[in-house]
Amino acid sequence: MADFDPREELAAIARALSERLRWLERGGVTEVPVGQRLPRPPKAASKGGAAPSPSQAPSSMPSGDGAARLAVVRAELGDCTRCKLSGGRSSIVFGVGNADAPLMFIGEGPGADEDRTGEPFVGAAGQLLTKMIEAMGFARGDVYICNIVKCRPPGNRNPEPDEIAACEPFLKAQVAAVRPRMIVCLGKFAAQTLLKSDAPISRMRGRMQAYEGIPLMPTFHPAFLLRNPSAKREVWADLQLVMAELDRLGIVRPRK
Ligand code: SF4
Repeated sequence: MADFDPREELAAIARALSERLRWLERGGVTEVPVGQRLPRPPKAASKGGAAPSPSQAPSSMPSGDGAARLAVVRAELGDCTRCKLSGGRSSIVFGVGNADAPLMFIGEGPGADEDRTGEPFVGAAGQLLTKMIEAMGFARGDVYICNIVKCRPPGNRNPEPDEIAACEPFLKAQVAAVRPRMIVCLGKFAAQTLLKSDAPISRMRGRMQAYEGIPLMPTFHPAFLLRNPSAKREVWADLQLVMAELDRLGIVRPRK
């Protein structure tokens, strides 16, 4: 049996780590959050081929799990100052939930509770969203939840077009990382952003649409439902269409 040489082992680990960091750097990644695993370059890199950059199209992302792909997106976002919302935030509210979720909910932007905790949909509207998710036969942790802008608009105002445009690449990258089978857009800003439409949410909802080939249902935002409880009936009708489509696609709703 060959002698074990700890110095050679250490050198091999250092080479592998250096290779991985160089690959991330080529993709524009400048930091990886503490506690997150470093994404691996695709196999081609270790055979001497050029590894795709992690900032390239979704199909070129690391071939590992959703968590690794999301880690790349989060690392690219970094301590973002790409728009003026960065000035007033306490936290970047990136997203939460199952990184390989079949179902993704996309809202508008963080409020005060979300800014404080760093997690989307934790206030009153978030509790209503959790009830909606559970009524569909999922636990909150089974799905993935995020917003179109990751930083709180001051005074809970609407996000402005330049802010949405600055953050949109990261939303798209999150969708590409999670690879959901279905998307539910909560409110007009999420639906208008992904569908490239200026139609009001009242006209978009109730009809299954598509984003990049993924079925997408626009519906009212839970915060709107808190102010207009009578609209819950329409939202439930929208979610029933979502459930029917999930069933048609053979996606298990674990708590149905
Ligand atoms: Fe960056 Fe998005 Fe926050 Fe603007 S809203 S600073 S683009 S993370």
